[in-house]
Amino acid sequence: MKKALILIDYTNDFVDKDGALTCGEPGQLIEGVISNITCSFIENNDLVVFAIDLHKRNDKFHPESKLFPPHNIENTRGRELFGKVKEIYEKNKHKENVYWMDKTRYSAFAGTNLDIKLRERRISEIHLVGVCTDICVLHTAVDAYNKGFQITVYKDGVASFNQAGHLWTLDHFKHTLGVQIV
Ligand code: ZN
Repeated sequence: MKKALILIDYTNDFVDKDGALTCGEPGQLIEGVISNITCSFIENNDLVVFAIDLHKRNDKFHPESKLFPPHNIENTRGRELFGKVKEIYEKNKHKENVYWMDKTRYSAFAGTNLDIKLRERRISEIHLVGVCTDICVLHTAVDAYNKGFQITVYKDGVASFNQAGHLWTLDHFKHTLGVQIV
């Protein structure tokens, strides 16, 4: 186990056509790529972390409440993984290298045990897929950069509802965070 795939927020609310905060078509188009990458990490016995946004209904203290409509509310269909990715998770969730991790902020490192989980396995290389490129994937990459991880991002494995933001972020990944874009 030398590397980890961090799969970010690929849920119905962020991807499905009637999701509460959907990326729409760009999000749906990356389903196949994310599925293939996830399966190959699982088969290679690398770590796969499903880092999934979690909100409580009517949480007046959460900063996102003022910024976005309610999304990824606990125990709703909106918070379930989208499409084939859900099937892959359900089929493999009992495996030692498959890990579900709730997160409540944009970054998968904020308020979670992701950092110690990676370090106890001596993992220094992380790969990112999911949505949205310019929000949760970006904030996760910034934290990973500051913590000294080597980062790879799959350009066809990330998407956003904001195409300009998506493209800006890919450029920022490469030129400012030293991310390997593949
Ligand atoms: Zn959120």
